[in-house]
Amino acid sequence: MSKTISILGSTGSIGRQTLDVAEQMDLRVAAMTAHSSVERMEEQVRKFHPALAVLTDEAAAKDLAVRLADTTTKVLGGFDALEEAATAPEADTVVTAVVGMVGLKPTLAAIKEKKRIALANKETLVCAGQLVMDAADRFGAEIVPVDSEHSAIFQCVQGCADRREIKRLILTCSGGPFYGMTYDEVGRMTKADALKHPNWKMGPKITVDCATLMNKGLEVIEAMRLYRLPLEQVSVVIHRQSIVHSLVEYRDGAVLAQLGTPDMRLPIRYAMTYPERGVNPAEPLDLLSCPPLTFAAPDREAFPCLRLAEEAATEGGTACAILNGANEEAVGLFLADQIGFHDIPRLVEKARREVPVVREPDLEEILAADREARCAVLGK
Ligand code: NDP
Ligand code: MG
Repeated sequence: MSKTISILGSTGSIGRQTLDVAEQMDLRVAAMTAHSSVERMEEQVRKFHPALAVLTDEAAAKDLAVRLADTTTKVLGGFDALEEAATAPEADTVVTAVVGMVGLKPTLAAIKEKKRIALANKETLVCAGQLVMDAADRFGAEIVPVDSEHSAIFQCVQGCADRREIKRLILTCSGGPFYGMTYDEVGRMTKADALKHPNWKMGPKITVDCATLMNKGLEVIEAMRLYRLPLEQVSVVIHRQSIVHSLVEYRDGAVLAQLGTPDMRLPIRYAMTYPERGVNPAEPLDLLSCPPLTFAAPDREAFPCLRLAEEAATEGGTACAILNGANEEAVGLFLADQIGFHDIPRLVEKARREVPVVREPDLEEILAADREARCAVLGK
């Protein structure tokens, strides 16, 4: 059970919902970080009184320090300061809610300090899953997933002592805003269309990933790393209503699922209370007013990103870091109106073709693969 937390990415969608949960559960906040959101960070610091506030943008950090001169909160700037926030001595739990590969080093630093990792930042596991999971085992740090599908699976495997009993993990996928369209129809969709997710309100990067289905591809890799399972044991099913958050099929044929309203505060809360369950003030799921629950196969022709992620997962080594780095860069270009929707898979595929895969990579090789993939995309 967490008592004091640090939040990497406190100003984002997951970060803000984590602060809601912290307030409801009366948790202390030791440190929080963001990139450049000065005003929101000032507000959060005045409300939660952390010992440390970090903005990775140096100019924004200077501004924040001036604004917070009347408080006892220490303000730091720059990327290295993320590690200081991740290892704040008072915190027993670190919520990794930054977006992107930038979460990797601070997550490793927190693991070395045996913090519980409430892991939202999926890009970290996608790029360096083996390294992160091995480090967690070595240092005895718990990793509790916050991503709703992985939290569902985590909840469904409680009490399963022998992982060989698991036959298959089934990740549910809303299908995103372009579900049911053909490849050509999807190609005509704009940024505004892509940013309209049917069920969840999230940051812009993951919302675009949901529209391309890359998010589900990244989640397949995340699940493989968390549960050390091959691709053949992780499948994806479209479930438009986002009520069944994921399922585990056991070898005796039993299928366990976790259901709930689409509200990230439930998995965030569970990552804090695990192995116990706390009282949640939110409205409970009312099965009688739920829409009918439907399930369908994903369309890998119309949404090639899912296939690209599965191919990288099969190849292993730095293939997933290349996939992820290229995707982060391509989504950035799409959000800056510089490329079209189908250019995202095209540029990811280009980076995968051009950047050689390193087997059993160390941290430096993973970071290098990420950099090379981004360069391949920026060369367009
Ligand atoms: P947001 O974009 O809403 O928030 C991102 C946070 O990270 C902000 O605090 C932002 O600060 C900070 N940040 C952004 N870029 C950098 C950077 N380069 N260096 C340091 N900090 C940075 O993202 P979400 O909350 O939606 O997602 C966070 C993570 O959680 C992602 O990995 C996502 O895949 C995962 N996730 C999110 C879900 C959701 O419902 N939102 C569901 C499941 C997983 P600033 O405000 O200053 O830009
Ligand atoms: Mg998810």
